[in-house]
Amino acid sequence: MVLHAAGEPLRLEDVPVPEPQEGQVLLRVSACGVCRTDLHVVDGELPNPKLPLVPGHQVVGRTEEGRRLGIPWLGWTDGSCRYCTSGRENLCDEARFTGYDLDGGYAEYAVADERFCFPIPEGYPDEQAAPLLCAGLIGHRSLRAAGDAERLGLYGFGASAHIVAQVARHEGRRVFAFTRAGDEDAQAFARSLGAEWAGAVGDPAPEELDAAIIFAPAGELVPAALRATAKGGVVVCAGIHMSDIPSFPYDLLYGERVVRSIANLTRRDGEEFLALAPRVPVRTEVETHPLEDANEALDRLRSGRVRGAAVLTVAE
Ligand SMILES: [Zn+2]
Ligand SMILES: [Zn+2]
Repeated sequence: MVLHAAGEPLRLEDVPVPEPQEGQVLLRVSACGVCRTDLHVVDGELPNPKLPLVPGHQVVGRTEEGRRLGIPWLGWTDGSCRYCTSGRENLCDEARFTGYDLDGGYAEYAVADERFCFPIPEGYPDEQAAPLLCAGLIGHRSLRAAGDAERLGLYGFGASAHIVAQVARHEGRRVFAFTRAGDEDAQAFARSLGAEWAGAVGDPAPEELDAAIIFAPAGELVPAALRATAKGGVVVCAGIHMSDIPSFPYDLLYGERVVRSIANLTRRDGEEFLALAPRVPVRTEVETHPLEDANEALDRLRSGRVRGAAVLTVAE
């Protein structure tokens, strides 16, 4: 499924099987998660994607000899800049990202730099594993950024939040879920995963939060989350794109509250999270769509109709 220009639907095309270069593996793709970042790329909210582009960066597939590997968003770094050499390869200026700078997994085959691929933990069928690779990894990095917050607010209860809620409960935290107004299904879904309270983003939280993670790409949630957060708390913006943040009184930030973002992932995040997920154990809720229905899957995500994560499956 190929993107030719931002704002256009993906097109189903026959393209040559990619040739692995030095250090790359060729995977026969079986499943690829659909991420909100894919939407931002397809909708033109992220600048200068490779074109034409095969999107998708939560890729599960097998090498010719049968090894099961996952390809994440971080596809390549220079390994030499001040970020890479200080454990912050997620911030590398030269980084290349799967399904953005590099062709991704909305396809039958994908190539990737083997150093950036992860073995998939046992016990996860391919389609259940796919959302671990971005929704899970970014959620994990966001939760670490929230520190040891006991009362955790999750703003937007999609693919990432449904995984983070499970990890947070496993760690003994209390989870409060904020969804679109009137989205009773998402609120019930959040409660089923251990949230002790679920309501609309406009609702006051039943008590102060120690941290909030914002997954929805809506800048107005930043002052809202700050308002709900206790002194010393942190508001983590987990997405790659967000609408402008409206101005707000300094009082909302004062009291040593922190607003920060999460950008990309390191390989260490992946190793940590993929070791943690089976121990929780994280169970991903997925709806699957055949690869050729990628546009429909993106539409469902765009309009907030996906419960858990959407995953494209590729027939043998
Ligand atoms: Zn670098
Ligand atoms: Zn993603």
